Amino acid sequence: PTVINRIAAGEIIIAPVNALKELLENSIDAGSTIIEILAKDGGIKLLQITDNGSGIDENDLPILCHRFTTSKLTKFEDLTSIETYGFRGEALASISHIAHLSVLTRTRKSSCGWKAIYSDGELTQQNGSNDPIPAAGKIGTTFTIEDFFYNVPSRLRALKTANDEFTKILDVIGRYAIHCNNVGFSCKKFGDSHYLLNTRPNLPIQERIRAVFGSSISNDLVQIDIENGFNDLGVKRVYGQVTSPNFNNKKPIQPVFFINNRLVSNDTLRRALLSSMNRFLPKGHKPFIYLSLSIDPRNLDVNVHPTKREVKFLNEDEIIDRICLKVIEELSKIDS
Ligand code: ADP
Ligand code: MG
Repeated sequence: PTVINRIAAGEIIIAPVNALKELLENSIDAGSTIIEILAKDGGIKLLQITDNGSGIDENDLPILCHRFTTSKLTKFEDLTSIETYGFRGEALASISHIAHLSVLTRTRKSSCGWKAIYSDGELTQQNGSNDPIPAAGKIGTTFTIEDFFYNVPSRLRALKTANDEFTKILDVIGRYAIHCNNVGFSCKKFGDSHYLLNTRPNLPIQERIRAVFGSSISNDLVQIDIENGFNDLGVKRVYGQVTSPNFNNKKPIQPVFFINNRLVSNDTLRRALLSSMNRFLPKGHKPFIYLSLSIDPRNLDVNVHPTKREVKFLNEDEIIDRICLKVIEELSKIDS
């Protein structure tokens, strides 16, 4: 069973960036306003995430890395929401099967922090005990993942270089830093004191985009905001920022799409937006696109593989048409 669990976990977590995304989402779900990430060798040797969120109750630590352990299954609607992602309560369990995982956590009501080390789904301290150990700690949670795929050599070999893996990590943090307006994100490489990304909570959207992509983008943004524009299609709101026709850039930038606060991709939406925006841009120039959609969770297709992030939704063509029309309308107002 251990080997099967490892193989299954390796289907979900195929690179450090997959674990990072899961841990980021957990930290955000825990109400954190500061999230710090530290990586060594592209996250392969070490990936550490520290948050100032709710912390985890000491009594929950023994089962934390069991499959299907979750505190998030509250209403039936949740089952059909994107947060399920075919992946409810499986992230920590999966990570514990393919790397060394430990946690240091403290809730508001606890007088100290608690430390636990996990292996293959179980809490197993180095001294052989199966209980969390009291430790000094601030309110919040630190997850430390070490030696990715130390026990799955084929997966380890399939990883890209440390630099490539780090680029993927920084990219995902940057996307969340753009989207999460009330959270500050920072990222460092182990042994290096300078920040590769550093945002404070409650920065305006332009500032967040500037922190991630630089001022060349943030000086040239056009807001897209459709509230109650298509309730009939199950969409509550579409909010975003796209670069204006004056934006001078020839390098393609992957669009930043969030649906119900989860980072996703949707190729149909991406292509439609790019072709709508194309006619406003000088030949060969590429736009930046950030869009956040709030969609009735019942309309989302969750039957997508967790690592693919590709999400489908009901009335897709009509919704995409309306978003594109809005973008065209906004861009038409600007004279270049
Ligand atoms: P899921 O997020 O689907 O519930 P996970 O395996 O990612 O499953 O996490 C299991 C549970 O561990 C969560 O439901 C949550 O209760 C707890 N948890 C994980 N990370 C954190 C965190 N950073 N802060 C507080 N609680 C957390
Ligand atoms: Mg999770």
